[in-house]
Amino acid sequence: MSGARAATPGTPGTLYVVATPIGNLGDLSPRALDTLRGVDAVCAEDTRHTRQLLAHFGLERPLLALHEHNEAALAEQIVARLRAGESLALVSDAGTPLVSDPGFRLVRAARAAGVRVSPVPGPCAFVAALSVAGLPSDRFVFEGFLPAKPRARRERLAQLAHEPRTLLFYESAHRIEDTLADMAAAFGQARPAVLARELTKLFETVLDGPLQALLDRVRADPDQRRGEFVLLVQGAEETAEAKVAEGRRLYAKLCEHLPPSTAARLAAELSGAPRKALYGGEESGPFR
Ligand code: SAM
Repeated sequence: MSGARAATPGTPGTLYVVATPIGNLGDLSPRALDTLRGVDAVCAEDTRHTRQLLAHFGLERPLLALHEHNEAALAEQIVARLRAGESLALVSDAGTPLVSDPGFRLVRAARAAGVRVSPVPGPCAFVAALSVAGLPSDRFVFEGFLPAKPRARRERLAQLAHEPRTLLFYESAHRIEDTLADMAAAFGQARPAVLARELTKLFETVLDGPLQALLDRVRADPDQRRGEFVLLVQGAEETAEAKVAEGRRLYAKLCEHLPPSTAARLAAELSGAPRKALYGGEESGPFR
């Protein structure tokens, strides 16, 4: 464990993790700007994109491409530069690095090497969406992007069907309709949800309603399928029936790998459902 005070812009040997706008350039903070101005180089997911952002603010800094395909290979090299006393910034194309974006390997390597890693917080699409959705926000689960393949996506949604906390997802324009349809099937058509589109941009829209109504709206209006999306779904109600349904799902899955008695014990523990309710009553279960 290591402790450190917040580093001032340009402190030698520091990796600054800098949030950048998710659309509206006015959201780049003054401290982010100072930091980008003060570092020796900026590690960027897409150097062309970051060059344009810096140019908008009249900045020109050396850029290093750091994306998911080269991050593992480059992390040690970048850490060596930091250890030699350079100060570097890490940015992604939009929002907060490491949030559905590259950077975690570099940050881990830097921390392991005892390098100071300092956040310059700012925009993040799911936090912005949560702040305007009007869904319970004291506890939530950020799921990032769902799997692209329909079968894997439906399996993931089935695993989440009984999650009581508010669920947050990122989704792209070309899958938003399919994802809403799969969610309506997995969570129920009536489950309250919010679709936050193009936040901080010209066509910002925040729609709320039951999943089926959102799906109908998106199907009816091509404009609602354009841009970038955060999809939020209210958590499942914690009823006794919901616990039993979740327990049965877990029991069926665990039985594929474990003896029925162990599967039932684990499923009951994880779901909070009574063990006997999991296999359809006392007569048909493994325990008499
Ligand atoms: N690191 C970013 C962050 O802090 O939010 C997210 C990067 S992730 C690769 C990009 C996804 O974030 C998009 O596909 C979309 O789901 C969501 N997103 C980014 N900007 C958005 C915006 N302005 N409005 C709604 N969703 C957005």
